[in-house]
Amino acid sequence: MNVLILGAGQLARMMSLAGAPLNLHISAFDVNSGNTVHPLTREVLGQGLASAIERADVITAEFEHIAPDILEQCQASGKFLPGAEAILTGGDRRIEKSVLDKAGVNNAPYNVINQREDYDAAISKLGLPLILKSALDGYDGKGQWRIKSTEDVEATWQSVEAFLADADDRQCVIAETFIPFDREVSLIGVRGANGDTAMYPLTENIHTDGILSVSVAADDNHALQQQAEQMFKAVADALNYVGVLAIEFFDVDGTLMVNEIAPRVHNSGHWTQQGAWVCQFENHLRAVCGLPLGDTSRVAPTAMINMVGHVNVPQAIMSGCHLHWYDKAPRPGRKIGHINVTAASREALAEQLTTLSQALDSTEFPAVKEAAERLR
Ligand code: ATP
Ligand code: MG
Ligand code: MG
Repeated sequence: MNVLILGAGQLARMMSLAGAPLNLHISAFDVNSGNTVHPLTREVLGQGLASAIERADVITAEFEHIAPDILEQCQASGKFLPGAEAILTGGDRRIEKSVLDKAGVNNAPYNVINQREDYDAAISKLGLPLILKSALDGYDGKGQWRIKSTEDVEATWQSVEAFLADADDRQCVIAETFIPFDREVSLIGVRGANGDTAMYPLTENIHTDGILSVSVAADDNHALQQQAEQMFKAVADALNYVGVLAIEFFDVDGTLMVNEIAPRVHNSGHWTQQGAWVCQFENHLRAVCGLPLGDTSRVAPTAMINMVGHVNVPQAIMSGCHLHWYDKAPRPGRKIGHINVTAASREALAEQLTTLSQALDSTEFPAVKEAAERLR
């Protein structure tokens, strides 16, 4: 089967690695160059979207910020899963929020801001503190503003106004109530075309400067898992979703609130490569190719540590870890790989992370020590 992935980054690369044993032939469409490339070597395989669509049996995506005309072309082929509606939902916070409301899942109260009146209305309706997010193109915490107190109101508006003036007509800003969460967790699940679902255990996520640093899958909180699974089903059913869908949550004193969704394989699911029977990349491919879903059970407590920017990884740590490089040149704030660590127990994982935090430079890997402490 020929699978075309929109996007040619590390997620397409890892799907291609997971698809090879299933005899799936994966190519990646680089939306920037308009070329179809090999997801590992980046060798150019063809030019233009039309011929790539023609050759594909199935089309899917590794990211949600895709131009509407590309989505339309893929949708028209009848081969696109999870499809244009799901990708648009993940790529536009305005649509995303309305889908979350329609699905009846708990999420932060919000207001859409196009002009000053909306901004003032958001502040009086939602109160302070507030978090503002660009509706389109946001990732890794980019395109966000925080209003902590009334002193910030004017300066933030200046910045938002300038941003909107520069942006294209489809752009706007979403104001959300600031949620004082205890921690952030995410659920990665997969839904087949027949409506079957399979879900991985919740992962706890630690961010640094808006970028995911560490994800840990070692929790056995059944009540929380049930809440998350019920919300996953509600959202996935509302979108008639096919493939892997990620949901980020705030845990507020044992009650989950959806932060955002990602209609694709997700960074907080990379641990499944070593930590679960069938990883998220394989499960996404299984779902979109109409194959039976794979077992999402956890094999062992596992942590995933992102490598961001220029990092030094001592060779010695390889004996106890799996390294996944993306073959990307390091740039500040750029994800260039990750490390998966598995252990026999939660305690053993804490031990291993402590050892790692001593071996790795804490400025390059800012959250490893904290991840170890949270496990204790
Ligand atoms: P990602 O790279 O995960 O796609 P993003 O740029 O889409 O990130 P969000 O996940 O919406 O952004 O927000 C980034 C971070 O900001 C969250 O992980 C969380 O720590 C914080 N945050 C977002 N929304 C809220 C909120 N309503 N209340 C409190 N903190 C928030
Ligand atoms: Mg996001
Ligand atoms: Mg997020």
